[in-house]
Amino acid sequence: MVKIRFLGAAGQVTGSGCLLEGAGHKFLVDFGQFQGDEIIVRQNYQPLDFKASEIDFVILTHAHIDHSGRLPLLYKQGFRGKIFCTYPTAALAEILMKDSGKIHEEENEWENRKRMRAGLDEVEPLYSFDDAEETVPYLYPMPYRKKHQVSEALTFEYFDAGHLLGSSSVRIEWLEDGLLKSILFSGDLGSGNNPMLPAADHPEPAQAVVIESTYGLEYHHNTRRRASQLAEIIEETMEKGGTVLIPSFAVGRTQEIIFELKAHYVSLDRLDDFYDIPIFVDSPLAIHATGIYEKFADYYRPEVAAKVKSPENPFDAPNVTYVSEHEASMALDRSPKSKVIISASGMCEAGRIRHHLKHYLWKRETTLVFIGFQAEGTLGRALKDGLKDIHLFNDPIKVNARIEFVEGYSGHADQAALDNWLEPLEPHLSHLFINHGEAPRSHAFAEEMESRLPNTRVIVADPKEFYEV
Ligand SMILES: [Zn+2]
Repeated sequence: MVKIRFLGAAGQVTGSGCLLEGAGHKFLVDFGQFQGDEIIVRQNYQPLDFKASEIDFVILTHAHIDHSGRLPLLYKQGFRGKIFCTYPTAALAEILMKDSGKIHEEENEWENRKRMRAGLDEVEPLYSFDDAEETVPYLYPMPYRKKHQVSEALTFEYFDAGHLLGSSSVRIEWLEDGLLKSILFSGDLGSGNNPMLPAADHPEPAQAVVIESTYGLEYHHNTRRRASQLAEIIEETMEKGGTVLIPSFAVGRTQEIIFELKAHYVSLDRLDDFYDIPIFVDSPLAIHATGIYEKFADYYRPEVAAKVKSPENPFDAPNVTYVSEHEASMALDRSPKSKVIISASGMCEAGRIRHHLKHYLWKRETTLVFIGFQAEGTLGRALKDGLKDIHLFNDPIKVNARIEFVEGYSGHADQAALDNWLEPLEPHLSHLFINHGEAPRSHAFAEEMESRLPNTRVIVADPKEFYEV
């Protein structure tokens, strides 16, 4: 018997982490950060109710910080086991964890200045850059579709989840009284129409499945039109002399939209028009991430891999400038020229995008384009929902910019893709756990699955519960 507890991403979309105990091991699948408003973020600081040093190993599904972002905290508190992951995940997790450590230090400095002024004691950051750096050697990369024997009793295998470079579903198998038992974690599942990554693999069936539900019961439309719609918005804004702001995560989505936008202009035989659009990728992370995207070209769909390896490598475009230095980032706001700025964070909660928002949102000729999921409680969600008065860096800002949402770029599976992944597994399923979704959505998805699978126990993950498989 393996006991399971959901440490996060239960009734919410961030903080992924599962504690499993059984088959002679105590281990985690993911240990990510909670991201969103203050109340959500506070969950990162709650004391762990297990001993970090007692965790044997971690199986990491992918590098996104809401899945990997508390690993340096685990290390800081005494964990010294292996962190299994795929090769690209190891490369991406290194830069993302270090970046996160740096952000925690910066936020902590700011917080402590505030506390000092109020006569309060200083507090420590969640973890530091050094903690993150010291966690990196524990990353233990391995390939997809190859069983890894952790001990006599337990093996696991990674499958491509098509969500981010290196992202995976993981199937864990253990021996119990001479019988093989299994649990399969979907991880974050891709939409199946990522411009670069292949669709998710179909793993072998398992008795228990944990499936994400970010877009349960919802269908993505517009996947064919997304690039032309984005191109239209950019052209309309530039004609008015405005700037297009695209809040986007530096790793993954940024590389994908540049790749697809260029391909769109190539398909129209208008490559010169693409080269006329000055695109600034304003993120120190993006340079590193793009290097990793080039290095692991073999993980893409074959036709994309061929392009990345050819002289027409889509990441080498003369109109795309990667901005690393802070000063150069600020200079973008001072230049009156029309341009496209792609900057993190994707939900406008942190990062350089907030400076650009402060500078551009009050201008009518600006367009703010959302291309990804905006979680409840984030500034991105508020802007997407039409909020007209906001505060940035203590200044009131009137939102006069045009706000657009280009659908179809989601990194997550919609109901059709969830069904496609789950259906071959259904005849074998005794337990179906639903996690990684906002509570009402996970419950609605569970209801649907209950009626479809009368012989399966369908459970919406609850962080207060212990489950047994
Ligand atoms: Zn993810």
